[in-house]
Amino acid sequence: MIDFNIPPSTGNETGYIQQAIAQHKICGDGEFTKKCTAWLKDRFTVSNALLTTSCTHALEMAALLCGIEEGDEVLLPSYTFVSTADAFVMRGAKLVFVDIRPDTMNLNEALLEAAVTERTKAIVPVHYAGVSCEMDAILAVAKKHGLKVVEDAAQGVMSSYKGRALGTMGDFGCYSFHETKNYSMGEGGAILFQDPVYAEKAEIIREKGTNRSKFFRGQVDKYTWVDFGSSYLPSDLNAAYLWAQLLMADQINADRLASWNYYHEALRPLQDRGLIEQPTVPDGCVHNAHMYYIKCKDLDERTRFIDYMKSRGIQCVFHYIPLHTAPAGKRFGRFFGEDRYTTRESERLVRLPMYYKLSEESLAYIVQAVRDFYRVSE
Ligand SMILES: *Cc1c(COP(=O)(O)O)cnc(C)c1O
Repeated sequence: MIDFNIPPSTGNETGYIQQAIAQHKICGDGEFTKKCTAWLKDRFTVSNALLTTSCTHALEMAALLCGIEEGDEVLLPSYTFVSTADAFVMRGAKLVFVDIRPDTMNLNEALLEAAVTERTKAIVPVHYAGVSCEMDAILAVAKKHGLKVVEDAAQGVMSSYKGRALGTMGDFGCYSFHETKNYSMGEGGAILFQDPVYAEKAEIIREKGTNRSKFFRGQVDKYTWVDFGSSYLPSDLNAAYLWAQLLMADQINADRLASWNYYHEALRPLQDRGLIEQPTVPDGCVHNAHMYYIKCKDLDERTRFIDYMKSRGIQCVFHYIPLHTAPAGKRFGRFFGEDRYTTRESERLVRLPMYYKLSEESLAYIVQAVRDFYRVSE
């Protein structure tokens, strides 16, 4: 069986985890958390980065820092993971789902401005498959109407848009280090932001509403409860795992890109014959090979495709039933305008196996199975 995903591991994780244990520092904000955040800030040119327990929690922190309140409206795609929506719903926001572009499956920037009302507070672009949304246009709408931008860059670590790292262009950027993402710590994430005005509040929210981070830096001699907050900091054991991955970020990225390019080249003849559609990477976008997907003709063909691949020992998956069609999505949101692409395109998309160290032998076997399904010899 060729699995759809195998969590990344470099072989160096256990050494760092043992080091954390030996140093008697396994709670949050230890040495490995510091190493990881310093790496993120340096690598992605962002002035603030805080590790969190998940991307979901990074998004919750962003919603709190944006000051989202009951009745505020948030613009986001319906084609996304539930966490993108949950973080804002928990603050009482009303979701306004904007249709996607069929080429990248990202928020259609051309529809955004018409969806803005006097209650709109934030735009939440999701960089699907690690391919950037059209950020210049999104940032321009946000600036014109005084809106916050929270980038859901869960899938976008190591990707860029016109030279800028995903997650560093909006007011906040949220990364995921879940085991299904390119770089992992089991469960984990990070929140990134440029504006120093948020720095103290972010530390306080992450540390149960206390100024404990300031205390550790020796800036106050006792720490105390100063505001509302939660516990959004991960164990240093998890950060030790992540550290091993970040040190090899370029190798992991190159390995995934090689697999992505293999699929893309080998399956091109099927696209040329109009049998499938392949993903698009617009000019100015550098992606991280987070996923390789193809689009079948329709839902029925996709179901048969997934069953066929399974019969050949290959696990292929689809995801994201559009949020506006789910019970909670109907309760907390509305679709803006016409659903031209969200439902139709989501029903056609299927993801092929993709993980660090996916072998060329497996890739060749998968591609052959796709050809066989479409009865194409070469
Ligand atoms: C994975 C993912 C999340 C959630 O990440 P967690 O770290 O599991 O909380 C949120 N948004 C998108 C687009 C994702 O792919």
